[in-house]
Amino acid sequence: MSRYALNIAELSFAYGQKKALDNVNIQVEPGECTILLGPNGAGKSTLFALITRLYDSRLGRIELCGYDVKTNSRQALAKLGVVFQQTTLDPDLSVTQNLRYHAALHGLSQKTADLRIQEELERLDMYERRHEKVRQLNGGHKRRVEIARALLHKPSLLLLDEPSVGLDVPSREVIVRHVHQLAGRQNLAVLWATHLFDEIGADDSLVVLDKGVVKAQGKLSSVLSATGTSSAGQLFSQLTQGKSS
Ligand code: ADP
Ligand code: MG
Repeated sequence: MSRYALNIAELSFAYGQKKALDNVNIQVEPGECTILLGPNGAGKSTLFALITRLYDSRLGRIELCGYDVKTNSRQALAKLGVVFQQTTLDPDLSVTQNLRYHAALHGLSQKTADLRIQEELERLDMYERRHEKVRQLNGGHKRRVEIARALLHKPSLLLLDEPSVGLDVPSREVIVRHVHQLAGRQNLAVLWATHLFDEIGADDSLVVLDKGVVKAQGKLSSVLSATGTSSAGQLFSQLTQGKSS
């Protein structure tokens, strides 16, 4: 069994002639929250599409808990929970109905599903609202439901694609805190794509992606000292604009 929840090796991908990812190598360990930091167009969503098998790449390898997503798709994808960039809840169904459907897709019995739904919604302070239609929820609450949904089948790796963009500050804080706690307490591996560098925690690992290339990687502190920068904001502008400070 691989020590990595996610192991990406020498991954490249192009849309026609346009290179979107160029020889990307990323490892995420259990219990580790890795921030995939990159401006719009860096290739973050493309990377997620490859991890989730929405796209296929002939160049490189992606493994989830040691299972190759190409040759062992079923086992690999069972280890994965995903919150996509765009909301993917049905607005006309209730919170519980959305979650039950997803649990059924993962083969959970109704009894197990209802227990898991309660557990995850309670943790996010959303259990009281389980009978409401998703349409009635604000953006932050929809995101909480999506995070709960992604965790129902107890994945080893949680992928979040810009989950906090467009949310107000208190809603963002709830989500940032919750996901960091999950990684720490449940030994979950997290890959969190964002272009908001203030979401990086002191203990987080960091992958800086720009124009499909990994520009820096490691714990925030070591990436800062390796690049001679003093903050994530300074690092981000130096790496993405090619400026030295
Ligand atoms: P990010 O999620 O970091 O904003 P994307 O992965 O969406 O970046 O995009 C990476 C690059 O690939 C961008 O230059 C984007 O314009 C291009 N791209 C994304 N999706 C497509 C597509 N379906 N067809 C062609 N080019 C695409
Ligand atoms: Mg994107």
